[in-house]
Amino acid sequence: MAQKLDVGIIGGGYAGMAAAVELAARGIPVTVFESAKQLGGRARGVLHNDTQLDNGQHLLLGCYSETLRLIELVGGDIRQDFLRLPLQLDLHGQFSLKAPSLPAPLHLLVALLSAKGLTWGERFKAARFMLALRRMSFRIPNDMTVAKLLADYGQDSDLTLKLWEPLCIAALNTPIKKASGQVLLNVLRDSLNRTRTDSDMLLPRIDFSALFPQRAAVYVERHEGKVFSSCGVETIVPKDGNIELVTAQGSHSFSHVICATPPTIAGKLLSSVAALQGTVARIETLEHQPIYTVYLQYPARVALSHPMLGLHRRCSQWLFDKGQIANQSGLIAAVISAEGIHQELSQEELAQKVIAELREEFGIDQLPLWFKVIAEKRATFCCAPDLNRPSQLTGLPNLLLAGDYTAGDYPATLEGAVRSGTRCAELLYNSTKPII
Ligand SMILES: Cc1cc2nc3c(=O)[nH]c(=O)nc-3n(C[C@H](O)[C@H](O)[C@H](O)COP(=O)(O)OP(=O)(O)OC[C@H]3O[C@@H](n4cnc5c(N)ncnc54)[C@H](O)[C@@H]3O)c2cc1C
Repeated sequence: MAQKLDVGIIGGGYAGMAAAVELAARGIPVTVFESAKQLGGRARGVLHNDTQLDNGQHLLLGCYSETLRLIELVGGDIRQDFLRLPLQLDLHGQFSLKAPSLPAPLHLLVALLSAKGLTWGERFKAARFMLALRRMSFRIPNDMTVAKLLADYGQDSDLTLKLWEPLCIAALNTPIKKASGQVLLNVLRDSLNRTRTDSDMLLPRIDFSALFPQRAAVYVERHEGKVFSSCGVETIVPKDGNIELVTAQGSHSFSHVICATPPTIAGKLLSSVAALQGTVARIETLEHQPIYTVYLQYPARVALSHPMLGLHRRCSQWLFDKGQIANQSGLIAAVISAEGIHQELSQEELAQKVIAELREEFGIDQLPLWFKVIAEKRATFCCAPDLNRPSQLTGLPNLLLAGDYTAGDYPATLEGAVRSGTRCAELLYNSTKPII
């Protein structure tokens, strides 16, 4: 007999809202509980000095197919919502790689062989590495750190510093000495190896709450679902085959629950349920990595030569010119991913360091009108080799887990979060089908 579903979702970030949209689209009743005032979680809009910022500058890749599909499903328009750039990695004055208009993977091979800032020897080594990875279908028999993988394939230190390290930190938010070689290869497989547009870089013109979660909430409500903000779940209580979610505003009972909070909160919420101890133990093994974003509002005429530029051996890793991306003239976002000595600086000291780097690299002598440092200390899980990430299925058959940290091919990304949410929705939907 088919089981009737009524699903409670804890957390209105990208994972939770993806699950909600997928279930609502299939006519399954859903209720989302979000503890914050606004939706979006680790990818949310932040208003500062009447300027729309995000909690951190994000970038999507053309291969983020599930995220892009769901943004369109809830009414977004990829062409209008994003500035789309063909793959281009530019470390100001030191290194530049640009993919020509050729089919994949030729576009990458030509890009590597014509990269500026590398010797011919380094270009051939990088191209040979990519060809070897293709022959191995981007799979290594045993996972290892990115640093070891690069050493094993003869990628010397200059090539690593200019190409692989910035790529690894941007993709996995984990230093190469700690990062999983296999997960990096998964990202390279999907972004560089299939079609040329998979490696496009998509920079949103609107903030991250507006881009998907807010639209998703409207979509869910139009499909008879409910989305409650400022309504955190305090306790999970399995009762009579259902699961009760206790909030400060009252208790609600559901046939099924998807827990889509960040991992540390999921660990706490699930810890009171005996059947979930295995999942909790896996969550507790995860370590975390930070991302700092320094927003600097300069006079409107200040601009960079490209919407996105990297810096070589500087504290600021990537700079985004929000004037070119989102019509916010003079606004520059400097992103510093993963752990490092910048964590020892005060916000004022960090901003002054970035201001000095912009002056030294680009001759920007003006002082910013204001700056805002946003430190996300637990931005992502530390994407180490052989991580035993918890599955979406748990020891309680009617409680599922969604979130960027749950089992999957991807590092902590929007696409990883969204895929985990759609996977939960699919698992629940399939459980409603009568068994013949
Ligand atoms: C600064 C920064 C930059 C990043 N850059 C990129 C990038 O360029 N590209 C990319 O793909 N990814 C990037 N990421 C990663 C990406 O943002 C995350 O992987 C993704 O947003 C995680 O989504 P999630 O839904 O799994 O978790 P979250 O976004 O953490 O969502 C969980 C939600 O649960 C809510 N919640 C918590 N406790 C409760 C409770 N008790 N009851 C109800 N609700 C609760 C939270 O408020 C939150 O809204 C970045 C992350 C950060 C922080």
